[in-house]
Amino acid sequence: MKNIITLNNDGSLNVPDTPQIPYIPGDGTGPDIWKAAQRVLDAAVEKTYGGKKKIRFLEVLAGEAAFEQTGEWLPKETLETIKTHRVAIKGPLTTPVGKGMRSLNVAIRQELDLFACIRPVKYIQGVPSPCNGPEAINMIIFRENTEDLYKGIEWEAGTEEAKQAIAFIREKSGQNLDENFTGIGIKPISRDNTKRLVRKAIQYAIDHNRQNVTLMHKGNIMKFTEGAFLKWGLEVGTEFPHKIVSEQALWDKYDGKVPQGKILLKDRIADNMFQQVLMRPSEYDVIACPNLNGDYISDLLAAMVGGLGLAPGANVGSECAVFEATHGTAPKYAGMDKVNPGSVILSGAMMLDHMGWQEAAELVRSAIGQAILNKRVTYDLARQIPLAIELKCSEFAEEICACMG
Ligand code: NAP
Repeated sequence: MKNIITLNNDGSLNVPDTPQIPYIPGDGTGPDIWKAAQRVLDAAVEKTYGGKKKIRFLEVLAGEAAFEQTGEWLPKETLETIKTHRVAIKGPLTTPVGKGMRSLNVAIRQELDLFACIRPVKYIQGVPSPCNGPEAINMIIFRENTEDLYKGIEWEAGTEEAKQAIAFIREKSGQNLDENFTGIGIKPISRDNTKRLVRKAIQYAIDHNRQNVTLMHKGNIMKFTEGAFLKWGLEVGTEFPHKIVSEQALWDKYDGKVPQGKILLKDRIADNMFQQVLMRPSEYDVIACPNLNGDYISDLLAAMVGGLGLAPGANVGSECAVFEATHGTAPKYAGMDKVNPGSVILSGAMMLDHMGWQEAAELVRSAIGQAILNKRVTYDLARQIPLAIELKCSEFAEEICACMG
């Protein structure tokens, strides 16, 4: 079919001039954000290619809209459509806390085997930051997306399954857990899933001339899960002998100085990593980590460059990719045309990069930067920028389009 993105034999994308791209508007503030984001993405493509290229956005159902129309939260057809189209974009979806269904976001990542959650964090001039010298912040997180505690293997306290797990633990480890009032969660971390994630992070560092890759883990405490992540991650480093230098080799062979053209593979324990990125951000570049660490560090880094409203993300596998906001549905602002659509817009720019439409992606990024310099922004930024004019979500999209020149 002529409007469908296909995969070449080498894994690269074959993108037609008018590709059909499925989108999920999302729950809560999702529909407001999506409308604004589509307006900006369409304008950037039109401006860059003068009508020669155009995305045909195709709505697919997930979340509350899907449940209302089909009785299912994540219809099979939605997953199939994303699979066949190779590239999709989505707004946030609701997940109840401590009860109810499992996260649809997690289900999409696992069902489509989107094993790398990629989140770039770069300071945009003019955005208020709680840090000193935020200009130094330019990191990109590669978070393993399919396993760890996110795998969703857990049993509620008091259930037969939890009791059986507790009995097994008692037999194998001698640890006594309260069998009626202990919930159990399982944390699987496997060699192959770790390796493909770390390989992707290192390949990204090589392709984009980055300085270092840091494996963020809690291997001192969780030796056979996070410790194994570190061990397998370091093994991947040895697959790139002409490019990667380990910290060990740095001191043994190179007197502490990274040789020209090489990339340093570091590792940091997770708690230390939080203070490192805050206090010495210029020393960190590409970060590769297991799922839960990645979740936490993503929001910290997003806050350091102005908050969740501007934090983009992508979930990428070997067959397809889904681009999405880092933030959630912000339900208290639903339907108010209020929140910042920047996160989905910048995720859209990542999508344009992924499609090879870099000129349009750059236009999106520079226009959003200009709108911020003009101090015409949504409430989240306006409340922190002196003399800023607060715009609605849709007005901010208009402002970004106007900044495209
Ligand atoms: P949230 O929706 O991200 O909102 C937390 C706070 O972050 C908001 O109250 C708001 O701060 C700020 N914020 C979020 N999005 C913003 C935006 N676009 N512009 C400006 N500020 C924004 O997190 P939550 O309240 O913890 O989660 C709500 C629901 O979203 C839950 O059901 C959760 O499971 C789901 N969720 C979905 C995803 C996803 O789809 N990938 C990710 C995370 C959470 P102020 O109150 O300071 O204005």
